[in-house]
Amino acid sequence: MKTIGLIGGMSWESSIEYYRIINETAKEKLGGLHSAKSLMITVDFAEIEKLQHENRWDDAAQILIKCAQDLERGGADCIVLCTNTMHKLANQISASVNIPFLHIADATAEKIVSEGINKIGLLGTRFTMEHDFYKKRLIEDFGLTVLIPNETDRNIVHRVIYEELVQGKIIDASREEYKRIMESLITQGAQGIILGCTEIELLVKQQDSRVPLFPTTKIHAIAAIEYALK
Ligand code: GLU
Repeated sequence: MKTIGLIGGMSWESSIEYYRIINETAKEKLGGLHSAKSLMITVDFAEIEKLQHENRWDDAAQILIKCAQDLERGGADCIVLCTNTMHKLANQISASVNIPFLHIADATAEKIVSEGINKIGLLGTRFTMEHDFYKKRLIEDFGLTVLIPNETDRNIVHRVIYEELVQGKIIDASREEYKRIMESLITQGAQGIILGCTEIELLVKQQDSRVPLFPTTKIHAIAAIEYALK
């Protein structure tokens, strides 16, 4: 079994889900007392969040590059960055190490394509919904059509992530807002919805949507353990 290197803490509310899922899946696949071999480095999310909102992405990259290199030195066989948003820096991080970087959007897109879906809604931070790094990969590498909420709704989705979900607050009224926003994407033709922020699946479950949901923490964590067992 390979050792999974996780860059966590963005936020730790979802990092613990990664830890739980890789271990549960290892046990499911191997049985008995098996668990996943892993290393996790946890950053201080307050530092990262400040750099994001001050548009200081190169400074954030330096922090995450050091994490990846420390994981490699510590014996990790791959890098799993436990957040969608910071995949904005995926190229810089993956170029800084000699071990594979398992991209969250690739794992998610492969699952979407395998279900025969080509028009997909995307919820995430404003960075993930609005910047190019995530959508472009889905469109250019996987041929998907990507729908995002309107500006007012993007602000709601973003606010709920930073003011509630990364702080462990799960609020019913926010789930209703997300359901309304997902419904409007479905009305525009979305055949499925990417929960493209690793905390959204703590709030929204499959029962809250009439189209398939693609929870990125679960998909990414399972892809990581499958890679480790290959
Ligand atoms: N965990 C979130 C994501 O998947 C947001 C926190 C962050 O900005 O890293 O995008």
